Amino acid sequence: MQAKTIQNTNDTLTINEIFYSIQGESTYAGRPCVFVRLTYCNLRCTYCDTAYAFEEGLEMTIDEILQKVKSYGCKLVEITGGEPLLQENVHPLMKKLCDEGYEVLLETSGSIDISKVDVRVKRIVDFKCPSSGMEKKNFWENVHYLKKDDEVKFVIGDRNDYEWTKRKIDEFGLLYKYIVLMSPVYGAIDSKVLAEWILKDNLNVLLQLQLQKYIWSPEARGV
Ligand code: SF4
Repeated sequence: MQAKTIQNTNDTLTINEIFYSIQGESTYAGRPCVFVRLTYCNLRCTYCDTAYAFEEGLEMTIDEILQKVKSYGCKLVEITGGEPLLQENVHPLMKKLCDEGYEVLLETSGSIDISKVDVRVKRIVDFKCPSSGMEKKNFWENVHYLKKDDEVKFVIGDRNDYEWTKRKIDEFGLLYKYIVLMSPVYGAIDSKVLAEWILKDNLNVLLQLQLQKYIWSPEARGV
């Protein structure tokens, strides 16, 4: 059962922050990118590093958001959160960005239906492993809505998460259809340990570190 979405008034969205930085995750890691972080999240992951986005935010019209994005002069934009799909007006925002020639990434938790997302948007779907405490919130129907160039992400906190992820990869046949990202929970598991598990199993996934935490401080906001 997925969460109910928020019907925004008129053409506004509640925005937590908009900033320009280096993309730290996905196959786009390392590229300059404008981030549009939307307020609200229906989940409460144990390791969440953006809890400030649960409530804090300002109403902005879609045009105001587009103007702010444009001011950075960068054509790669990521829509993130919180959970960005909670606000219905995220759809016209993504459509407008695509219409204006932006390359648009969407980072979503996998708990909300992605089928309405503009097909030009690249979806990075972060299904929740058991150690997040949110495993039951995964909306697995989303697997059927993935496009070939979308990416599926699993954030691994321990060995149990790793084994669970391997089972899900098999169950949904993810490995040779989509790019599968595995990312260690920062501070909970050594990335070397995860790397060794992947090598031992010869698993065709992409090990992901959150680059932004290594470039700037792990607690930094807006980077
Ligand atoms: S889905 Fe993301 S923003 Fe929401 S609680 Fe989990 S980690 Fe935090």
